[in-house]
Amino acid sequence: MIPLLVRTLNTLSKYALAATIGAGLVSSEGAAQQVTPTPGSAKAIFGAVTLPTQGPPLSIGFYAKGCLSGAVALPADGPTWQAMRLSRNRRWGRPEMIALIERLSRDAAKYDGWPGLLVGDISQPRGGPMFNGHASHQIGLDADVWLTPMPARTLTTAERESLPFTTMLEKNKFLTVDDKVWTTSRARLLMRAASYPEVERIFVNPAIKKKMCETWTGDRANLGKLRPEYGHDSHFHIRLRCPTGSAGCKPQPPVAAGDGCDKPLAWWFTPEPWAKPKPGAKPPAKPREVMVSDLPKACQTVLDASPVASAAVATFGAKAAAGPAATSAIPVSSAGTGSTPPDSIPQQ
Ligand SMILES: [Zn+2]
Repeated sequence: MIPLLVRTLNTLSKYALAATIGAGLVSSEGAAQQVTPTPGSAKAIFGAVTLPTQGPPLSIGFYAKGCLSGAVALPADGPTWQAMRLSRNRRWGRPEMIALIERLSRDAAKYDGWPGLLVGDISQPRGGPMFNGHASHQIGLDADVWLTPMPARTLTTAERESLPFTTMLEKNKFLTVDDKVWTTSRARLLMRAASYPEVERIFVNPAIKKKMCETWTGDRANLGKLRPEYGHDSHFHIRLRCPTGSAGCKPQPPVAAGDGCDKPLAWWFTPEPWAKPKPGAKPPAKPREVMVSDLPKACQTVLDASPVASAAVATFGAKAAAGPAATSAIPVSSAGTGSTPPDSIPQQ
């Protein structure tokens, strides 16, 4: 990832780089957000679908350019988690992702002094681009988890919409974790999440990564999975690798060896990633709106496929089967093609 960034630096203005990376991963609650999707865009079409397809889970394409078939929902409540912002209908993911969240919530409560998870966005019912908040989260293998512990009581639906995020950073200081907010239980939670083999990356703010590098005294074998990224100061982002046998899922290069506490991290603490455009500089061209035809071909089939009968039957752990398990609405062979976007489409 970083070598690519360094190469990219040579060809893009600093401003364009910051914009590109920032758009790629930041679930920027505070930043300016699109309020409504552009009619006819992939964001509008995928965002309007309320139920997943029937059939087995298929992640089609890349984390930031793809879609999802056979999704299941995280139950809104569990003994050690509560799902947030329910109105967004983004509790959907591959069963592997939902199982991982539930397992992390149990393990963190049992071993790490973390009472439970507040779970943010996972994916839309059929994945695909979202009109606000994320560029990735498109194939059911990304999930946001708050760095705020679950309260002892069940939050109301209204509270889940409005509970504010708590940043881990000191206000008015450059990239510094606030030691009045940060706790070792948070550090343990992050390393617990990184400990699972199916977790490939965890995105955190560079200041949080630095804090982890400086203070984590346990096994550092998985510290390299913690990747510094813009935003991610009040939540962290778990990304699973493509599951085995998932033909249409386009993997990301593996994380480089080592704990990631050296040069690539130091880059974030230089002015470069934060440089503002020079006055009078031409702003970078606005990327063209992504259309369904820009996504892997099978994503149109995903949109056309029959829905499950209800969200309840497709909720993870539901007794009822979501559909005929033996047949897929999406042929795997076609899912495996068309996943490479044209060069003109930014692929964060
Ligand atoms: Zn995220």
